[in-house]
Amino acid sequence: MFNALIVEKDDEGKTHAKLQKVSEDALPDGNVLVNVEYSTLNYKDGLCLGPGGGLVRNYPHVPGIDLAGTVETSEDTRYAPGDKVVLTGWRVGEAHWGGYSQKARVNGDWLVPLQEGMSNRQAMAVGTAGFTAMLAVLALEDHGLKPGDGPVLVTGAAGGVGSVATAILAKRGYEVAGVTGRPETAGYLQSLGAQTIVPREELAETVKRPLEKETWAGCIDAVGGDMLARVLGQMKYGGSVAAVGLAGGAQLPATVIPFLLRGVNLLGIDSVMQPYGNRLRAWERLQRDLPLEKLEAMIQPATLSDLPLLGSNILKGHVKGRVVVDVN
Ligand code: NDP
Repeated sequence: MFNALIVEKDDEGKTHAKLQKVSEDALPDGNVLVNVEYSTLNYKDGLCLGPGGGLVRNYPHVPGIDLAGTVETSEDTRYAPGDKVVLTGWRVGEAHWGGYSQKARVNGDWLVPLQEGMSNRQAMAVGTAGFTAMLAVLALEDHGLKPGDGPVLVTGAAGGVGSVATAILAKRGYEVAGVTGRPETAGYLQSLGAQTIVPREELAETVKRPLEKETWAGCIDAVGGDMLARVLGQMKYGGSVAAVGLAGGAQLPATVIPFLLRGVNLLGIDSVMQPYGNRLRAWERLQRDLPLEKLEAMIQPATLSDLPLLGSNILKGHVKGRVVVDVN
């Protein structure tokens, strides 16, 4: 028997998350059994710890979209007992039981080997949020962004995606401007490498003019909604925005004018279904471009029993940086 955080749904349709003892027989099908060491907390985990936001199909459910641990048994020839492995995405923690458990049975196709020089704890400090931030940086650079082009805007900067994006961009020599609704995080964002702090209110208003002053050479946007719409009109000629999240809303109340008159690119970023090759590329770049001491500064440690409260906090935008969950 081992510990897992189980979410159950009662007769009235309300969900309850509780630490419970589970046996291996209860785990879903899969060809690799992993002894989980660490997991983490992403915005989506906040949804799955509560009513689910339509993501969870069946109850009882074990959330946790990310996990890192050691292989116990494997029917997949690519993995052997003792191998350190990392899993993000593939709807684990949503459609399949996830990482808020001391053991997880998963499909070997979903795993990547832990990068050399990185610990399982550090991999979970990165987690889906950091992996997605790296995918966003890669997308901007694949579309021509380079240091020296001008300031790069990061929205939702004090959140998980935003914190990692800020640290990576700064390490690569970009001038980073971080948008935050929490002025008290300014010192934290500066320690990650942000040169300018942009108050959220400055970008919160609905688009009035489709084109504003050309300001940003690139943008990693975790917020969506009115903020993304405003940012599109502030991009420099030919600049790209990587659309990552919807913390501020799923709508895009924008015009097409920035695309037509300034050649602005809007790049969609998905972390869940990325093929294996892209995953390796992003993890290799994380290993190179994310300073570990800055990653350490983002970490808030937690245990499985802390997660129900942390889950509701992340949905309110109250979590700073990255929560790392020691499941043991
Ligand atoms: P966090 O909650 O850690 O960060 C989100 C940040 O957005 C908050 O910290 C806050 O930053 C800001 N924010 C919150 N609410 C609002 C609001 N109403 N208006 C403006 N800004 C707001 O979440 P994550 O970093 O884990 O995820 C960020 C977004 O990215 C989520 O929408 C998530 O679903 C999405 N995501 C998408 C992925 C993909 O594959 N495309 C993968 C991972 C995440 P501050 O306090 O600094 O203003």
